[in-house]
Amino acid sequence: MKCIRNRKLLVVIACAITLAAGIGVYYRVTTFTSVGYDDFPEKCPIHNVKTKNETLDNHGVVYRSFSADLVEAKAQKFPFDAIYDGEGHPNQRYKRIRKKYCPHCRKAREEWLAENR
Ligand SMILES: [Zn+2]
Repeated sequence: MKCIRNRKLLVVIACAITLAAGIGVYYRVTTFTSVGYDDFPEKCPIHNVKTKNETLDNHGVVYRSFSADLVEAKAQKFPFDAIYDGEGHPNQRYKRIRKKYCPHCRKAREEWLAENR
């Protein structure tokens, strides 16, 4: 009786491992890691805080245009906001986009937009 119970437990564990591995593989092949992810700094050189990870839904490629003053302010005050960088991928096989950003850069961007819009 004890032997049978152990065998059932083994089968359940094997199924759980297989299922977890399957979900892991599915997640990996359907998630696109944004361009520049590996080169993204661990710490924001301007705000000196650790950069964070986020995973977003893939909305495909979206074209946006920015005013020259925003481009200049971004370069100087919030270069790592990463709001639109690597936002989408044209291949719909990718369900999600994984990327990094600096939370303080995003705050600085919001403040700049509030002051300049
Ligand atoms: Zn920053």
